[in-house]
Amino acid sequence: MDDLGRTPARVSTGTLPGRDDVERLVDDAYRYGLASRDGEIATYIPRLAQADPELFGVSVAEVDGAVHTAGDADAVFSIQSISKAFVYALVCEELGHETVRERVGVNNTGLAFNSVVAIELNDGHPMNPMVNAGAIATTALVPAASAEERWARIQHGLSAFAGRRLELDGEVYTSEADTNQRNRAIGTLLQAYGRIDADPLAAVDVYTRQCSLLVSAADLAVMGATLADGGVNPVTGERVVSPAVARDTLAVLASTGLYERSGEWLFEIGLPGKSGVAGGIVTISPGKGGIGVFSPRLDSAGNSVRGQRATRFLSRALGLDVFASEAHEHGPYPYTREMGSA
Ligand code: GLU
Repeated sequence: MDDLGRTPARVSTGTLPGRDDVERLVDDAYRYGLASRDGEIATYIPRLAQADPELFGVSVAEVDGAVHTAGDADAVFSIQSISKAFVYALVCEELGHETVRERVGVNNTGLAFNSVVAIELNDGHPMNPMVNAGAIATTALVPAASAEERWARIQHGLSAFAGRRLELDGEVYTSEADTNQRNRAIGTLLQAYGRIDADPLAAVDVYTRQCSLLVSAADLAVMGATLADGGVNPVTGERVVSPAVARDTLAVLASTGLYERSGEWLFEIGLPGKSGVAGGIVTISPGKGGIGVFSPRLDSAGNSVRGQRATRFLSRALGLDVFASEAHEHGPYPYTREMGSA
């Protein structure tokens, strides 16, 4: 039963429009996103409050390796929660689907990303890898003999997704480490429930570092395209994770990637994605490519407002919504069994 579920006989996705069309539509998406000045910059991590609210970048990376950009697509910012998606993929690659599902879970909590109540309501189960409890538990699962080795493996793994070495923003890291009492409480609570084997405060520290890695919108597009390309980075050609792990990661993101707005996002955009409080969003169109956006003004759930606008535009204009279909032209109707065998 499980082998059957893990071994899809066929993969069917589709293709993007031609490169010139994608290039033009990325520019259009940028202009569409730019029209909004709604939202507020995150301030609960003091260093993030200093971000330039006007920065806005859009990028699409195709599975053939072409990368399109508009606006401030090379401006760097801390990856924050978006790191959760890629660390989850790395841990699944190491430990396998079942172990991670059992230890961390794949169900939406319906509560805030940093909720302690969600842990209590679920008998200490972290529920999913995209909330802080599940992300800290996932980081703690990265096989390593020490916290330093765990960090090195995560930095190396996320860099492989991006196709270049990602560096830590020391100021963001220090700012969050000085103010993350809540995440430390979450780590300790997980330990009390026996959900974390490693030192919980060391795991929170590694988690804080992974959130402080600097990426650009163009990096996010390539990272997303790696998950869209069966786990192979389409720019470097490196296999980062297996096709099954890429698929599992997207399935988790579909229901949990955009905080408490995950349902609305899936309804509006029809694609798996993950956002972070510095203003980045990565979105993945399986078999076609990745979208990376960055703009620091956020909605009340913590999702970039301009980023959501640009992504929604691209989902429609590039035909990416996985739930959309058109009637197949076959006629004459009604269909008969003889027509099928002809
Ligand atoms: N490092 C942040 C935290 O744990 C990530 C928040 C986010 O991007 O959602 O609070």
